[in-house]
Amino acid sequence: MADLTRLTAAETAARIAAGEVSAVEVAQAHLDRITEVDAKVHAFLHVDTEGALNAAKAVDERRAKGDALGPLAGVPLALKDVFVTQGVPTTCGSKILEGWIPPYDATVTRRLKEAGVVILGKTNMDEFAMGSSTENSAYGPTGNPWDLTRIPGGSGGGSAAALAAFEAPLAIGTDTGGSIRQPGAVTGTVGVKPTYGSVSRYGLVAFSSSLDQGGPCARTVLDAALLHAAIAGHDPLDSTSIDAPVPDVVGAARNGDVRGMRIGVVKEFGGDGYQAGVLERFNESVELLRELGAEVVEISCPHFDYAMPAYYLIAPSEASSNLARFDAMRYGLRVGDNGDRSAEEVMSLTREAGFGPEVKRRIMLGTYALSSGYYDAYYGQAQKVRTLIARDFDAAFAQVDVLISPTTPTTAFPIGERADDPMAMYLADLCTIPSNLAGNAAMSLPCGLAPEDGLPVGLQIIAPTMADDRLYKVGAAVEAAFLDRWGAPLLDQAPAL
Ligand code: GLN
Repeated sequence: MADLTRLTAAETAARIAAGEVSAVEVAQAHLDRITEVDAKVHAFLHVDTEGALNAAKAVDERRAKGDALGPLAGVPLALKDVFVTQGVPTTCGSKILEGWIPPYDATVTRRLKEAGVVILGKTNMDEFAMGSSTENSAYGPTGNPWDLTRIPGGSGGGSAAALAAFEAPLAIGTDTGGSIRQPGAVTGTVGVKPTYGSVSRYGLVAFSSSLDQGGPCARTVLDAALLHAAIAGHDPLDSTSIDAPVPDVVGAARNGDVRGMRIGVVKEFGGDGYQAGVLERFNESVELLRELGAEVVEISCPHFDYAMPAYYLIAPSEASSNLARFDAMRYGLRVGDNGDRSAEEVMSLTREAGFGPEVKRRIMLGTYALSSGYYDAYYGQAQKVRTLIARDFDAAFAQVDVLISPTTPTTAFPIGERADDPMAMYLADLCTIPSNLAGNAAMSLPCGLAPEDGLPVGLQIIAPTMADDRLYKVGAAVEAAFLDRWGAPLLDQAPAL
């Protein structure tokens, strides 16, 4: 039989539904693959062998009884360790949550289970999702399966690496400033940030609540759409959840087509600071879209230049308030509680030991930006910039159906290269942050390898709020055309692990 770890999620589900293979066999094949390669890749923080096999067994039993199975029943998935999982450790990549076992499931976790998806375990990430390389994890970095000495992106590097290393056909990420799309770009996988509010944040450990958005990661556009449909939709437990029907992302992914569409190239993303091979692949994608029948025009979004500084005021401000809950009393780690110390002293010792340097930097930045003397000058000003960015999008989408850009200015950089240079690290999200600030939807999908280093390049597609289906319509057309041109999926070119 063909290697089960190489199948797409759609193929896997079809084979299970047809009885050609059992869900348990599929789960076991992936658990074996994890045993084989994850010591090198380190995509997982926790592998839930028993939970995965039990979930798979339940799918097999339902099938044996003749129950209808959903479109992802029995398909294995790697879950970013930022979503809480009942009875299964959730650390968010932080020492401060070490040993914490959540007493409940996030809505995303619950929906996955209800869909019969088999959760293999929890994936590595930058601590509290702060970073672009997964080097900020308290549990050590993850390697990029294309080159283990390079970063797999971040903060969701573990989820993207699990896909690229064929440890799972599906994964879940969260995107606050690019943490689904940037890891997708540098690992040659597909990542989607749905419209803000369309995937529930209930049970998602909060980083920056007005920006955080869970979403699907996969190796194909259709797989991402199937996963998107499984997790999206209104949730009364999340007050920012949108109470409206989810766009038909699966239908769009099955009918990729750009004929007659107007596509805007964001003028501000390109030029200085962009790797030559990234721009070469991007320009090739623009040509491809023209050949496929789209009208491609240049669009200027002048305020995007201020997205980064605005993000690095808003995100740390919200983080400084969200992370106040880690007080040594409620969750995980507690340091120095010898009976003599005050609660404040224990809290301070616990935070000192439990938070890493990037998290401390953000808490300090955010506390400063929110302090009474500076609130208007920093946080208030950043919120105004946010409005201007949303208006740039509105003006752009009055002229075009979707926007495109490179997902990230460079390919995967070497582990360690930017670790001591926060500004260089922050630049990885230059092209992804505007959509978080405005709340609209965006996707990254592979568009080839950069000639100078042979590493994957991501194409970003950006759609208006609640028009997530357009991402899939365009993405599926691009994916099919590239598949035709390359003769095989890009990941087939990745070196064996
Ligand atoms: N890299 C960005 C940051 O460090 C975005 C992270 C994310 O999307 N979670 O904040």
